[in-house]
Amino acid sequence: MPFIITDPCIETKDTACVDVCPVDCIHPRKDEPEFAAMTMLYIHPEECIDCGACVPACPVAAIYESIDATPSHQKDLIEANAIYRNGDPDLMAQAEAIVAAHVAAQPALMAIPAAERQAAHASH
Ligand code: SF4
Ligand code: SF4
Repeated sequence: MPFIITDPCIETKDTACVDVCPVDCIHPRKDEPEFAAMTMLYIHPEECIDCGACVPACPVAAIYESIDATPSHQKDLIEANAIYRNGDPDLMAQAEAIVAAHVAAQPALMAIPAAERQAAHASH
């Protein structure tokens, strides 16, 4: 069961999770050309080994440990994580379109500062 990056990562993108991931399954990295254009980072569901190292590393608590643990209004981002493939323009665009739709559908949640947004997940 892969780990999932959710909406506190949007525009945060500090890549602290990338630095601790032992299998380099979180993209785009800062040294990849796709980094500037992407709204958030994504975990490759088949490459993730479920080690859990990224969760405490994330300063905004954006990462959930499983699909089941991901709040209902964040579940659209499970698909975004699953389909994103760094360097594939079509799949990158599809993932980013899901994120854009998520932002549009959750104005109250997205108005909360990223550092406080995960705490608000339970009540939205
Ligand atoms: S759980 Fe481990 S392998 Fe999976 S994304 Fe996080 S750090 Fe990487
Ligand atoms: S540590 Fe958290 S906010 Fe930073 S890039 Fe990773 S998931 Fe996004």
